[in-house]
Amino acid sequence: MSERAIRNGIRERLRGEVGRPPLRDERFKVVALYPSPYAVGMSSLGFQTIARLVGEHPGVSCDRAFLPNDPAVWRVSRVPLFGYESGEPVRSARVVAVSVAYELEVQGLIEALDLAGLEPLAAERGPNDPLVLAGGPLTFSNPLPLGPFVDAVILGEAEDLVGPTLDALLGASSRREALDALERLPSTWIPSRHGERLPALAVAGDSWLPAHSPIVTPGAELASMALVEAERGCSRGCTYCVMRRENRGPMRLATVDRILARIPAHARKVGLVGAGVSDHPAIVEVVSRLADGGRSVSLSSLRPDRLDDAFVGALARAGAQSLTTAVDGASERLRLQVKRGGKTEHLRRAAELARAHGLGRLKLYVMLGLPGETDDDVDELADLATDLSRRCPVSLGVAPFVSKRGTPLDGLPFAGIATITAGLRRLKSRLRGRAEVRPTSARWAWVEWVLAQGTMSEGRAVLDAWRAGGGFAAHREAFRRIARPRQRPVLGASP
Ligand code: SF4
Repeated sequence: MSERAIRNGIRERLRGEVGRPPLRDERFKVVALYPSPYAVGMSSLGFQTIARLVGEHPGVSCDRAFLPNDPAVWRVSRVPLFGYESGEPVRSARVVAVSVAYELEVQGLIEALDLAGLEPLAAERGPNDPLVLAGGPLTFSNPLPLGPFVDAVILGEAEDLVGPTLDALLGASSRREALDALERLPSTWIPSRHGERLPALAVAGDSWLPAHSPIVTPGAELASMALVEAERGCSRGCTYCVMRRENRGPMRLATVDRILARIPAHARKVGLVGAGVSDHPAIVEVVSRLADGGRSVSLSSLRPDRLDDAFVGALARAGAQSLTTAVDGASERLRLQVKRGGKTEHLRRAAELARAHGLGRLKLYVMLGLPGETDDDVDELADLATDLSRRCPVSLGVAPFVSKRGTPLDGLPFAGIATITAGLRRLKSRLRGRAEVRPTSARWAWVEWVLAQGTMSEGRAVLDAWRAGGGFAAHREAFRRIARPRQRPVLGASP
């Protein structure tokens, strides 16, 4: 692809955006980089929030850049990755601020830095290269694999730290001074100085709530949708989840008025965001008022035990075409084991409510490979989905369980690619013609698990894998070379 075609494609995306603040002409330039394509990055409330806060800071301009949809095609053009607003190379910025959602985006970060003409390894970048700072949801669990590639990481909720971080960098005259200043800030991990010792996670003040996305774009996965945070955290205690109340404290609520006030007048579609957004005590009122105003509404999460006639009715009036909720454990026994609130009776009621309100489909997310899972659990899931499908068409989104740091299930092994694949095969064969099964890759879930449980060495291995083509086999080989005893049995279980 030619440079002209690339730039025209980006201009076309920018033309579709509504609400984009103008790029200020300041001497200190930051690029907010998302290590996945534009459609994903622009659906991230956290990415949009941080880009907005950086761009509002005195003396700072904030551009955006994304991993191209097809990095190989971009690479042929030999154009260094550039900022969407300025068209200037990312490497000419003073700071590259990266938001990383989860483990598999580490490879996207490597790719994006390389396309920008920067060495992926922080230790190999020069004094005139931008500082690379990271933050985002991955920092809530295990940011260690990011360590080799970044100069610093803000852990946790970054809003209160954006200003002090930028002030520290604005006042520094060298890379060393910048790192000295960052080292004095709380919740800021500097891998080259701290090694693998992580500081405590930052908790932002309530005044930042609700976060909201300034830019609405048809090019996002959540197309043309304004995103507003209805609450932060979760009041529940599912043992596999980093957002559980024991980790993050109780759920913090935005008031109805503040939520509604953050929705831009032009937005016809609204996404209400939050780990436990359906637990917001006024959620039905918020959805109803948006529906009454002619807006369609989506929620980032719906707990099945919260669904009742008023709630599902409000969602239907707000344009919902389907009802999406999570089962998580394959059987009631496993759901109890991981302290998941939803029960079989809630799912039956959800299917009935979906049918009663004319929603075309019940979509359920479920994990396979929880500790102690047997064929009987998988069969119970198949029986449940069959039962539900008599009330309403059903889709199952199936993802393997990946144990995360800082949760009670931390350190558990991956069930094994062969085990997950066998469970999926069993489920699909029992549900053929009754319910749709949409699995995520067991192989890449294993890579995610290695990184979720890993250290800077596993992060460094992703670079080796990327250099060897970036596929699953390259990752398996790179991890095998550094496998520690804890991982060997599971590596052996891989295909
Ligand atoms: S309800 Fe969801 S967000 Fe809350 S602890 Fe459970 S899995 Fe996590």
